[in-house]
Amino acid sequence: MLVGVLALQGAFREHIEKLEACGARGREVRKPRELEGVEALIIPGGESTAIGRLMVEFSLLEPIRRRGEQGMPIWGTCAGMVLLAKDIIDSQQTRLSLMDMKVRRNAFGRQVDSFETDLSIPPLGSEPFRGVFIRAPYAEEVGPGVEVLAAVDGKIVAARQGKLLATAFHPELTGDLRFHQYFLKNAQ
Ligand code: GLN
Repeated sequence: MLVGVLALQGAFREHIEKLEACGARGREVRKPRELEGVEALIIPGGESTAIGRLMVEFSLLEPIRRRGEQGMPIWGTCAGMVLLAKDIIDSQQTRLSLMDMKVRRNAFGRQVDSFETDLSIPPLGSEPFRGVFIRAPYAEEVGPGVEVLAAVDGKIVAARQGKLLATAFHPELTGDLRFHQYFLKNAQ
């Protein structure tokens, strides 16, 4: 499977490496032409305001939104989760508005700006998954079509809506391929 990784800013190389370790092909996407032919897309972590602005500048916002509405699987990690959301608390920033959830940016507060914790994610099996959180968002609310996959202290940090997937943490920064495998399996 050919999977695009939006490569405008942020941690895109790590995602490509993980995809290739899973046996998929990864392609950096910076132009609308590079989006054509990809069967799924990852939006990496980084700075959601910058990535949003660059998506407009590089004429990718509308094509990605359209593909998402047509059912292309998209997974957003951290900033990518923010960009997938319909609602971003206290922000008017550019977004794809594809997932029915309300997110709060930098939501864990200054004391725990970045942290790691073991997560229980039932579809990945009983082994805990190491969650790496870097100025992470969480979802305060999700719509009825959204399945919650993981939470930290009751705060939603992984969710799925059909072929759309959002994680507040960074599986690409761990040695664990299970989340990438889960995305690929779901994308088929
Ligand atoms: N705080 C960033 C944002 O809201 C996300 C950080 C990240 O992707 N690691 O855009």
